[in-house]
Amino acid sequence: MIRVGVNGYGTIGKRVADAVEAQPDMEIIGVAKTQPNFEAHTAVKRGYPMYAAIPKRAPLFGEAGIELAGEVDELVAEADVIVDCTPSGIGAKNRELYETHHTPAIFQGGEDADVAEVSFNARSNYDAARDADYVRVVSCNTTGLSRIIAPLEEEYGVEKVRATLVRRGGDPGQNSRGPINDILPDPIKVPSHHGPDVKTIFPDLEIDTLGLKVPATLMHVHALNVTLEDDVTGAHVRQLLEGENRIYVIPEGLGIDGAGKLKDLALDAERPRGDLWENCVWGESIGVNGRDLYLFQAIHQESDVIPENVDAIRAMFELEDQKTSMELTDRKIGVGI
Ligand code: NAD
Repeated sequence: MIRVGVNGYGTIGKRVADAVEAQPDMEIIGVAKTQPNFEAHTAVKRGYPMYAAIPKRAPLFGEAGIELAGEVDELVAEADVIVDCTPSGIGAKNRELYETHHTPAIFQGGEDADVAEVSFNARSNYDAARDADYVRVVSCNTTGLSRIIAPLEEEYGVEKVRATLVRRGGDPGQNSRGPINDILPDPIKVPSHHGPDVKTIFPDLEIDTLGLKVPATLMHVHALNVTLEDDVTGAHVRQLLEGENRIYVIPEGLGIDGAGKLKDLALDAERPRGDLWENCVWGESIGVNGRDLYLFQAIHQESDVIPENVDAIRAMFELEDQKTSMELTDRKIGVGI
């Protein structure tokens, strides 16, 4: 049983904790938080031992009625692996703490690639994380793109990817972010940094990306154009994508015309937190012109990286091969529509 600690129990951290706890071969031994907010109370209710991420703030937990199991360095010392889910940039600062205790760690996509030996996407490069001490699970957008590119590359060969990422302004709880009423080319400079991030997974890939930010919190939407090495048919591509458990090809006729209805679908299915771990590809959008493939997909930024963190743990500790790990993760979390 791999003993897992989560440092940073926010949007990603709380989901990683629940996903790890659902697996038969790993368990949560504690989570570290900076403050006793509502998420800290949820963690306690779920039975996760609570550690103070910032020692001088430890008394605040007692005042809020939360009993601490200790401070973060004790959690790091005790864990077989830490999943660092702190805000962008803090993970890199935490690496020294993990190294001091010789504790392997998984970082998130907000960190620069050089925070870890390996950038990871389970479908695309599972074996690269075998036996690694430091792994970075790539961002929600890079995860979404990698899951599509991997099967296309294997089946047809990919000559070039062009993607426009229409990004949500902030997560539902991030009320300090925007825009509130605007449409921002973001970054204005093209191509954007997202393409180079995908190349941390596919070093030889030709890819250009553009980004925008819009007043939405629900999901990102990608408009994708992939030039393949072979002529294809839309029906064949569709069949290929339908064979991927972490891709949901939205059937025509369900009336799902946007991210809002996708989120309703997840809530109606009583998924935890309304999560959509899968890339959601509109079946009707899959269009082919010679070697050029076009499609729209929606990516739930808060949850698509969660199964990837579980698989990263299995790869690092060489517990299972890629296929077995992904299937087990998906079955235990409930991935697959
Ligand atoms: P978040 O702000 O929701 O959660 C971060 C948590 O870490 C908060 O609870 C915060 O209080 C805590 N924290 C702050 N400083 C800390 C410290 N020094 N030690 C321990 N905890 C600390 O952020 P998030 O959205 O969960 O993002 C975490 C990481 O995941 C980032 O790298 C981000 O880029 C990446 N990521 C986020 C999303 C997303 O859309 N939310 C998607 C994919 C990847």
